[in-house]
Amino acid sequence: MPLNPDLNGASHEGVAWNQGSTREGKRHSAWEAFIKPKLGNPDLTFVDGTIVETILFEGRRAVGIRAIKDGTRVTFKARKGVVLSAGSINSPQILMLSGIGDPAQLKRHGIEPLVESPDVGRNLMEHPGLYVLAEMNVTTANSLATPINGVKTLAEWVFRRKGFMSVPTAQVLAFLKSDPSFEEPDLQFHLFPFGWVKKKGRYTVPNRKLTTILVNINHPKSMGHLELRSKDPLAPVAIYPRLLDHPDDFDGVKRGLAWVRKIASTAPFGSQVMNLIDVPDPSAGAVADEAYIRKSTVPFLHPVGTCRMGIDARAVLTPDLKVRGADNLWVADASIFPRHIAGNTNATSIMIGERASDLIEP
Ligand SMILES: Cc1cc2nc3c(=O)[nH]c(=O)nc-3n(C[C@H](O)[C@H](O)[C@H](O)COP(=O)(O)OP(=O)(O)OC[C@H]3O[C@@H](n4cnc5c(N)ncnc54)[C@H](O)[C@@H]3O)c2cc1C
Repeated sequence: MPLNPDLNGASHEGVAWNQGSTREGKRHSAWEAFIKPKLGNPDLTFVDGTIVETILFEGRRAVGIRAIKDGTRVTFKARKGVVLSAGSINSPQILMLSGIGDPAQLKRHGIEPLVESPDVGRNLMEHPGLYVLAEMNVTTANSLATPINGVKTLAEWVFRRKGFMSVPTAQVLAFLKSDPSFEEPDLQFHLFPFGWVKKKGRYTVPNRKLTTILVNINHPKSMGHLELRSKDPLAPVAIYPRLLDHPDDFDGVKRGLAWVRKIASTAPFGSQVMNLIDVPDPSAGAVADEAYIRKSTVPFLHPVGTCRMGIDARAVLTPDLKVRGADNLWVADASIFPRHIAGNTNATSIMIGERASDLIEP
C-alpha cells in the first residue's frame, strides 16, 4: 500500500496518519465551530433540551414546528421556513410524524398523509465491516488504562494538550483497492493502537496487549430502511440495516478479511501479532469464514440516504435540498446522501450544512 501524506488531498488511496476535527489538541465539534461563536447574534435564538415532534403546515407550506421542552409542548413559528437537520435516523422520523412519507405506513399509525413520498426512511446505507482485535507480543496503548498511566496521560493532555488524548483514537487510516483493476479504493481500514472489549454490557479497555484493525467496504450496494413504531415522537424508530443483503457487499467484506490477515502476517506489524481474536484460522475454510463474516459484520456508524436527494420522482428531496411536495421545507444532514461516500461522514455532513446555507436564501 502506498503512503499517502494527506488523506484529504488529491487522492485518498494509501496509508495515512488520521486527521481529526481538533483544535489545539481538543476535539472541535460543529457546535464549537459554527454555533458557539454566533451565540450573541440577535438573529439567532438557541434552544436546547427540546425534542421536535412535528412540523406545522398551512396547506403544504411549512410554517413552524411543535416541540417538547421540559415536558411542555411549545411551538416555534418560522420566519422563512424550516430546515430539518436531525440526522439520518430522526429527520425521516420527523418527516413521517409530520405526514410526509409512505401513506400506507403513516395511516397504520394514525397519521394523516400530507405528502406522498414513499422513499422517506428508505435507501438506508451504511459502511459494513469487521472489528478485529489483534493480540500482540509488545506493549500497546492498552497499558495507558492503568490508574497511574491514565493519570499521567490525562495530565499530559490537560496541561500540554499533547499525547495520546490529543490525537484521533484511530491513529492510522488506509484506503485500498483490493483488486488493482478497481478504479477506486473499495476498502477502508482504521488502525487503533489499543483494543476494547465488551464486558457485562459495557465497553472496557483491558490491561492486555491489544490493537484493533477495522475494515469496511466503501460503496455498499445493500439498502436498509427505517419504519415508525408509533406516532409517539419519543419512541425510537425500527431500523432494518440489511447490511449484507447484496452479494457484492459480502464479497467486499470477505476481501477485507483477507487483507486483515495479510496485514497481520506481514512484518514489521505482523511480526508483533500473536493472533487475531475470534477470526477463524484460514485452514478452517470458506464455510467458517462465511459464518464469521455473517455473525461479526456491523455498521460503522455512518448511516446515510434516508431522505435522499435526486432528480427522479421518488427522491425525497430535490437537488436544492427542498422536500419534494412541500414548500419552505429543507433537509440538511447526512440523510440527504443519494449514495454512500468512501470515508467517514462527519466532514461531508458539515459540507452539506455549508452548501445548504448557500442554497437557502435568508
Ligand atoms: C459514535 C460515533 C462516532 C463517530 N465517529 C466519527 C468519526 O470519527 N469521523 C467521522 O467523520 N464521522 C464519525 N461519525 C459519523 C458522524 O458523527 C455523522 O456522520 C454526523 O454527525 C452526521 O451529522 P448529521 O448532522 O447528519 O447528524 P447528527 O450529527 O446526528 O445531528 C443530528 C442532531 O439532531 C438532534 N435531534 C435528533 N432528533 C431530534 C428531535 N426530534 N428534536 C431535536 N433534535 C433532534 C440530535 O440530538 C443531533 O444533535 C460517528 C458517529 C457516531 C455515532
